[in-house]
Amino acid sequence: MAELTEKIDIKSMLPEELAEYLRSLGQPAYRAKQLFRWFSAGCGSWDEMTNLPRALRQELSERCTLSAPRVLKKQQSAEDGTIKFLWELHDGNAVETVVMRYHYGNTVCISSQVGCRQGCAFCASTIGGLVRNLTPSEMLDEVLFSEKESGLPVSHIVLMGIGEPLDNFDTVMRFLELINHPEGRNISMRHISLSTCGLTERFDDLAERDLQITLSVSLHAPDDETRSRIMPANRGRGVDELFRKCKAYYDKTGRRISFEYAMIDGVNDSPEQAELLARRVKPLAAHVNLIPLNRVDERSFEPSKPENLKRFVNILTKNGVNTTIRRRLGSDVDASCGQLRRKMTREAK
Ligand code: SAH
Repeated sequence: MAELTEKIDIKSMLPEELAEYLRSLGQPAYRAKQLFRWFSAGCGSWDEMTNLPRALRQELSERCTLSAPRVLKKQQSAEDGTIKFLWELHDGNAVETVVMRYHYGNTVCISSQVGCRQGCAFCASTIGGLVRNLTPSEMLDEVLFSEKESGLPVSHIVLMGIGEPLDNFDTVMRFLELINHPEGRNISMRHISLSTCGLTERFDDLAERDLQITLSVSLHAPDDETRSRIMPANRGRGVDELFRKCKAYYDKTGRRISFEYAMIDGVNDSPEQAELLARRVKPLAAHVNLIPLNRVDERSFEPSKPENLKRFVNILTKNGVNTTIRRRLGSDVDASCGQLRRKMTREAK
């Protein structure tokens, strides 16, 4: 085992690091380009890299890992074609990835951590806490192997699976560079959304990078009392601070923020909360995405009643807030965060 853990995670390397590494092995720079292309195509075996000399493949296989997740479970929705994968990682941990089919292209929803430590009261991903961070190559694999196993080319990515992306900041930044690289998979930053529960201390770092991604903030309540109750990440940060940081992000990047708001019966769906939400998002010209709550077995929350959802939308619209109600995709395949992993863990016990 000791030997295994010392191996290099070569797929997490950026092309320039790869070139440097290959140089250290006495290889010409173009080998790095060849390798990066193989990695970005989701190649899971050294043997397939036939344009590389056999001796080099042998040497790399001794020094480096070549990750390839295994499909533990694949479910396809009969209703809308949504495909959900549960992957087994090299150490036996499992994460979920969902492929959704939208009119503008196939979108993959990926995880950034095994489990989550944010503790949102309505979410299945956080029930067992955080197990570990994913690596850049594991995040890359979620995209590449989903394409491979589904046969669906992906044009859009949302970081809305298991985990909190800003709690695994460096990895997520590297993943974005890898997936966006012109010599690799080259997925446009404009087609990528990053969702956060609001770890405000990382917003400036993110803004600094000036990426063309969409920042999605899981708000779920416009007042501290409710938000701190259902989202522990709000405690010690607060809604005022969150909106201050959102404004700074918007001012710096010019990119509009999108707010996610899961409608929970009797918790965050009152007319007063709709008014307050409208007042808060207006200065940001932000978009509000209302999500009918998905029921989670272990949680007692219920989705808002249709008439309350309607009332909420009307207040937002009346106030000029750009609002959408998210279509529910894949509800017959447990396609909401952490539900499948949770179910498999329970069954295994
Ligand atoms: N940690 C990040 C990424 C997870 S994204 C974040 O909090 O944004 C997953 C999105 O689904 C988040 O907006 C999350 O709050 C929401 N979500 C979690 N459980 C849900 C449920 N049961 N019903 C509806 N939305 C849920």
